[in-house]
Amino acid sequence: MTNITIIGTGYVGLVAGVCFAEVGNDVLCIDIDQSKVEKLSQGIPTIYEKRLKELLQRNIRAGRIRFSTNLKEGVHHGSVIFLALPTPPDEDGSADLSHVLKVATQIGPYLRSYTIIVNKSTVPVGTAAKVRKTIAATTNVPFDVVANPEFLREGLAIEDFMAPDRVVIGTDSERALRIMTDLYRPFVQDNGAPILTMDITSAELTKYAANAFLATKLSFINEIANLCDRVGANVDHIRVGIGADPRIGYHYLLPGIGYGGSCLPKDVKALRHISAEHGYDFQVIRAVETVNYNQRQKPIELLRATYSDLRGRKIAIWGLAFKPDTDDIREAPAISVIAALLAEQARVYAYDPQAMDNVREYVFGDKIHYGNNMYEVLDNADALLLLTEWQEFRDADLDRVRRRMASPVLIDGRNVFGIDTMEKAGFYYRSIGRPPVGVGNVIHA
Ligand code: NAD
Repeated sequence: MTNITIIGTGYVGLVAGVCFAEVGNDVLCIDIDQSKVEKLSQGIPTIYEKRLKELLQRNIRAGRIRFSTNLKEGVHHGSVIFLALPTPPDEDGSADLSHVLKVATQIGPYLRSYTIIVNKSTVPVGTAAKVRKTIAATTNVPFDVVANPEFLREGLAIEDFMAPDRVVIGTDSERALRIMTDLYRPFVQDNGAPILTMDITSAELTKYAANAFLATKLSFINEIANLCDRVGANVDHIRVGIGADPRIGYHYLLPGIGYGGSCLPKDVKALRHISAEHGYDFQVIRAVETVNYNQRQKPIELLRATYSDLRGRKIAIWGLAFKPDTDDIREAPAISVIAALLAEQARVYAYDPQAMDNVREYVFGDKIHYGNNMYEVLDNADALLLLTEWQEFRDADLDRVRRRMASPVLIDGRNVFGIDTMEKAGFYYRSIGRPPVGVGNVIHA
């Protein structure tokens, strides 16, 4: 059992906290957000993740996890202190390290004995050295700084943390490596996943390389899809045709309306910036970003094939979160699509199983309408745009959908439905990189 402190109790910090507690550690989570700390202390999750509530409440009851805003208490508690702080993009695309470095300035004075400070945030090359220098300026107590990037996927965060496919530990200290390896052993002993140890710089860059590669796969398949539209091919055949090759693989080859979320867009930007800072023009990454930016407008382009003027049209939206099984709307493609619809004076009626509160509070307020369920937003709609592939949309009663709409126009930004199914169901159906079906079904008001 280790005393662990997590500073920053968001998606990564909270998940890491409950998972470290679940395997028997004594965890104290620190956050500057008082209301978050109050809710979490009562066992109320502040984000939506499968199994989070259960793990949170069980470990609170067992006395293995607590929450506080008191940084001093946090530094005194943990022999290992994880920094899971935000590193949002600055205006120039570089990662903003102010949260990480601010906390680093506060840690030193409270250190009492050897402590490991772990960077779990995604941070540019050289950050561990900056954190070390910042802390060393205010203390003589021995400490190590370790780079331990996190690879969990939102929506599957608990599952990923409890059984990661690899753990990356970047350190130059034998002592820190031993303690970190012990901490992670319970998570890898069942699935045999490797604990990869490396120098700090390589560990920092590994996280960016991983996310940039995933983004590259997505932009690549989106470009293939766009080419399919022009030559009359079907991207579904192509992605299976290439994915069957184990050198390529099926993952991250689903075409859509572009990647979003709090990680891929920001990490791609940051990698471009890190490269530029070191005098290197990372050309592939620049193209990946441009393709992704353009892809977000794909639903509007497809919609325009039916309605040249969107003014006054009622457009129903299914899905706001950047991906299913999360309430996270950071950099969600749906937000860009809705902004474009509003700019064209369309009337937007949206539904999402988890993300509507966030969209109402942080983005569109009452500029759009929110439905109580996925069917309600369809009444007299001129078109339905499916923007996030939640399971409940896959399970939709298509007859019911069609009957409620003014015109059965469905733009599927995630290729959720089969084109044959949609033709039979009587829709005019457009998807990404697959032939249009049911042109004759459009009803022009
Ligand atoms: P988040 O915004 O959800 O959480 C950050 C938390 O830190 C917030 O609760 C905030 O209140 C708190 N905070 C800010 N300043 C603080 C301070 N001075 N003291 C204490 N708490 C403070 O962010 P996140 O999604 O958990 O991401 C954290 C880091 O992990 C980022 O670098 C991100 O790139 C990386 N990461 C995220 C994911 C993901 O899926 N979200 C996956 C891997 C890595």
